[in-house]
Amino acid sequence: MFLEIRELEQKPIRFEQSLPSGTILFDSEIEQQSPLVASGAVELHLSTEELRVRGELQVTLGLVCDRCTEQFAKKIEEKFDLIYVPAPQTSPGAEIAISPNDSQVGFYDGPGLELNEILQEQVLLALPLQRLCREDCRGICPQCGQNRNELDCQCQTKLPDDRWAALRNL
Ligand SMILES: [Zn+2]
Ligand SMILES: [Zn+2]
Repeated sequence: MFLEIRELEQKPIRFEQSLPSGTILFDSEIEQQSPLVASGAVELHLSTEELRVRGELQVTLGLVCDRCTEQFAKKIEEKFDLIYVPAPQTSPGAEIAISPNDSQVGFYDGPGLELNEILQEQVLLALPLQRLCREDCRGICPQCGQNRNELDCQCQTKLPDDRWAALRNL
């Protein structure tokens, strides 16, 4: 869905979307397992030209566990409240100074903004840094490759004792 500035100058736009898998492309390790459902509203502040996009989204994704490499389902539920400002007009090669406070602010240019791109970004931001099928996932045995959530292998894995390493560094 394209959010047109011309239309926003007249009135805020409300959106209700249910996007089937494949509408938005995530990376190859992410499988969309449910429709991406999003709703909210977009308004344009005429005086500042700021676009405010507010809403919430829900989607279930199949992610690959960092430890055991099995796929697991993760439900993402996110609320968002975002500000977009007109992209600065600069001559090519000129540097755009962005202060740290501006890092939460996005840019739009020309006729408007693509809602799907906003939703894609919000889903990716909502992903956990560490993708684990469960908190205590035991991962894969480095010696025999057995998934240790399913079966205990007989390998003797001795972890290096970090306490001594810490003392040596003193
Ligand atoms: Zn796992
Ligand atoms: Zn093993």
